[in-house]
Amino acid sequence: MSVAILTDITKCIGCLECVAACKATYGLKTDVPRNWHKDDGLSARNWTSIIEKPDRHYVRKQCRHCLQPACASVCPVGALHQTEEGAVVYESDKCLGCRYCMMACPYGIPRYDWDEPVPYIRKCILCYDKIKNGRQPACTEACPKEATIFGDRDKLIAEAHQRIQDNPGKYIDRVWGEHEVGGTSVLYLSDINLDFLAYQSNLGTTPLPTTTELAMGSVPFTFVGMGGVMLGLNWIIRRRTELAQVEVENGE
Ligand code: SF4
Ligand code: SF4
Ligand code: SF4
Repeated sequence: MSVAILTDITKCIGCLECVAACKATYGLKTDVPRNWHKDDGLSARNWTSIIEKPDRHYVRKQCRHCLQPACASVCPVGALHQTEEGAVVYESDKCLGCRYCMMACPYGIPRYDWDEPVPYIRKCILCYDKIKNGRQPACTEACPKEATIFGDRDKLIAEAHQRIQDNPGKYIDRVWGEHEVGGTSVLYLSDINLDFLAYQSNLGTTPLPTTTELAMGSVPFTFVGMGGVMLGLNWIIRRRTELAQVEVENGE
């Protein structure tokens, strides 16, 4: 089953319960405010945020969990991958810190954890540990207004279109994430344009890996060579972390 989150901007009251639930679930530390957090709010320690827009509009931002994720398609060591449920997750111990995923993502989602001695990429993982056991994400569970809900992707798309049909003039006639970049598992209904959440207003419906893989494939020798270098770097980083851990345990 392909699952999804549907966020209805008209229902959100900006209470930040979803943000708090995410931080509590994953033990995310207090953030260090930076200039680029403005009008965005995401960081390695904030996997979801609420962006305030005029006329009391609150827009929840998180990874869109693309059906064909550009981030995973460019990762040279497979640190990011998609699960059968649709969550795009990552394995921190594989991440090299090359940040190709940050450049490839059309929504500017993955963040580098600059405050850690050995930084990794961080982002929303669609609460994969919960959904694979039949539970819902912490953020949707915490929402007091059902502004952000979880369920089967096809059913949520049908629900979104039903709300548009039942409330003439209330919504823009569009379900964000239904088709763009091949579809995403985080969907939006809204009465304001949400294109500001992406790097460009018309991303189109073609999955981005079609182009990112072509781009990576056009430099095969460099890529293979770079892959080898990166695997080596990965080993060095992991070894460094292991040694640091031993030093801590020995009280050095
Ligand atoms: S929104 Fe970005 S980080 Fe999330 S799955 Fe899509 S490409 Fe990857
Ligand atoms: S789905 Fe889970 S990881 Fe993603 S924003 Fe919600 S609580 Fe955080
Ligand atoms: S918990 Fe619900 S109402 Fe509150 S900010 Fe998050 S999405 Fe909006």
